[in-house]
Amino acid sequence: MVRFQSSALMARLSWEVRAVAIRGLVIITQDGTHVQFKKKCVACGREDPSRIRVPIKIGINGVNFYCGKCKEMRVAEFRGEH
Ligand SMILES: [Zn+2]
Repeated sequence: MVRFQSSALMARLSWEVRAVAIRGLVIITQDGTHVQFKKKCVACGREDPSRIRVPIKIGINGVNFYCGKCKEMRVAEFRGEH
């Protein structure tokens, strides 16, 4: 008799999502529903000292922020996935 290994994907709870950084941020922590990160400018590398916490949505999540060094708007992006 063959025993099938249950996949890690199926073992995960359906509501649980994971954030994967794309650009412009450094993930500090995440709990399956929310992610906490620091914004980091893609142009100059400046890290914003404030942390923000947002719910993780499936797909691309974008947060706009202002870089005080470049004096321009930047975008922090992460991908939410199951
Ligand atoms: Zn900058």
